[in-house]
Amino acid sequence: MRLSIRALLLALTMLALPVRAADPANPVADTFNLAPPGTVQLQGWLGDKLGLCMNHRVWNQDPEKFIAFFRHHNDTDNWRGEYWGKWYTAAVLAYACQPSAERLAQLENVAREVVKTQDPDGYLGPYDLQHRLTCWDVWCRKYVLLGLIAAYDLTGDKTALESARRNADNMIAELNQKKMKLVEVAIVVLQGTADSSIIEPIALLYQRTGDKKYLDFARQIIDQWNAPFRWAPQGIHLLDDALAGKPPLRNHAYCIMSCFEGICELYRATGDRQYLEAAVRFGQSVRKYERMIDGSASNHELFFDGVRQQTEIIEQPQETCATVTWMKLCAQLLRLTGDPVWADEMEVSLYNAMGAAMTPGGEWFAYFTPLAGERVPGVIAHPDLTMSCCVASGPRGLLLTPRWAVMSAKDGPVVNLYAPGTATTKLADGSEIKIVQETDYPVGDRVKLTISPASKRRFTLHLRIPAWSQRTTLSVNGEPAPCDPGRYAKLDREWSPGDQVALTLDLRGRAVPAPSGAPQLAIMRGPILLALDNRLVPSIDKAVWLTPDAGGHVELKPRAVQPGWAWMTFEAPFQVRPSHFFGIYTTNLALCDFASAGNAWSETNLYRAWLPQPLYLSQAFPTNTWKLMHPDITRPVIPPHS
Ligand SMILES: [Zn+2]
Repeated sequence: MRLSIRALLLALTMLALPVRAADPANPVADTFNLAPPGTVQLQGWLGDKLGLCMNHRVWNQDPEKFIAFFRHHNDTDNWRGEYWGKWYTAAVLAYACQPSAERLAQLENVAREVVKTQDPDGYLGPYDLQHRLTCWDVWCRKYVLLGLIAAYDLTGDKTALESARRNADNMIAELNQKKMKLVEVAIVVLQGTADSSIIEPIALLYQRTGDKKYLDFARQIIDQWNAPFRWAPQGIHLLDDALAGKPPLRNHAYCIMSCFEGICELYRATGDRQYLEAAVRFGQSVRKYERMIDGSASNHELFFDGVRQQTEIIEQPQETCATVTWMKLCAQLLRLTGDPVWADEMEVSLYNAMGAAMTPGGEWFAYFTPLAGERVPGVIAHPDLTMSCCVASGPRGLLLTPRWAVMSAKDGPVVNLYAPGTATTKLADGSEIKIVQETDYPVGDRVKLTISPASKRRFTLHLRIPAWSQRTTLSVNGEPAPCDPGRYAKLDREWSPGDQVALTLDLRGRAVPAPSGAPQLAIMRGPILLALDNRLVPSIDKAVWLTPDAGGHVELKPRAVQPGWAWMTFEAPFQVRPSHFFGIYTTNLALCDFASAGNAWSETNLYRAWLPQPLYLSQAFPTNTWKLMHPDITRPVIPPHS
């Protein structure tokens, strides 16, 4: 009897609780949540790079020039229409790094100006009536949608969301009316991969409106991949091939990765596990077949078996847009799965391919980033706007960093990136935890974290132990704690304000053999790829061999004095073998971090990351890589910024 009274009371209590209806358009919660705007401040080398990018690129850009195309519809066959959305989404990330009322007002105004350019029938894009649904129209509208949705998410202004809906509705209606498949809209050689990436904003629209029309449209696009169409007699099967673990389609690298960003959003919107499975397997395929040692992909913007090819002189390697989209896709996979492999990936891309792609002043980006040769500023594709795809994309990868550096899980904070700075995260009960990092990592190997909840609290602090850190030590208030490479160390305890965590990571030099089996080695130190730079290496008639120890390690000694242009420099021992049998001796060569290598951005400053065995020092550096590949184009210079 007493039990049944208790059960009745319990039932009554439950009835009294407000019932939260399941949100049909957002059934999946992220495993890790991105840091909210303004909660993570990075200092040191990374903080400087973010500041240069924000001040000299993002906030130095007048978006009005980009918006004018929507107002005048004076584009008929080009992709200028992507620039506003790329700029706006980068500016929202810049705002998240340093929120201010002034910037918020600026972003609100810019979005309103864009909404004003919308045609009465809902079209919002750069093309005239006659050229809609040709060439790059869908691609440009994808970025318009992403910009408008970012504006709605930032400001809550429903007119931005409504404007995005009307633009998407106009496109869907016109495709239906003309009985056109989206994958057949335009750009024959891209086989529908560019236009298909509109799945991302379409899924975001579904999440925000619950209107099933968008979900149906996104699914239709995926169905179109599986049937023959005009530009692909066999179909392109992006989803099915990913599920089957096949290598990525040898087509446009960043468009295809963008499609999988959309697939991630579809998973978030539906909970359909095949979408998550496909995105994860696709990411693994990129790692296995395409991602090069510095964390980027592509040649001539296309996937090309990059893992095997990367030791060769590649014509147009590693489009910055590909670097950025790879990092954005990894961020999606990290949010959804909580698997630290995606944070390992982003860290490598960030410090190497991304760091190398930005000019020292932060005002410009490279189009391509070779692993050997010279750095060249990106060609200005549109002189009327002084703009190019990669220059518009670069900040979208770099400025994402604070959002994933420290994330939050259900049971506590997640530290993914070690860098000097502070983070404030919240527990499920709303209480705040401040995390202060003191470190010069990845120059040094030690990280000190001070963990301060407002008062004593039990929670789990997740610390990413990179897969390469085979010898790691971790302690809390001096007490050793267990940790394993390639996993999160989970410190579940009662934390008091000021508790200290000490982490030492394994920064021994690692010799990485060429995946193709070619007789070449590269040296990684933690997440940093090292490179030879001709400002540090003598051009002499000598052949040298890198001779790692039995464990594959290379002894690296920091140089006592280093030039101002280098972030870090090390001496590494190389063997000289005058004869097979005797007279062998060791000579030291200096290497620097890959991001600093070649950073004079001139045709005389040369570098290389992969080291042939043996390496002939007088012929170490490929020269004229720009001229060879672009005989008809003047070598670009960094455009002056105002
Ligand atoms: Zn690009």
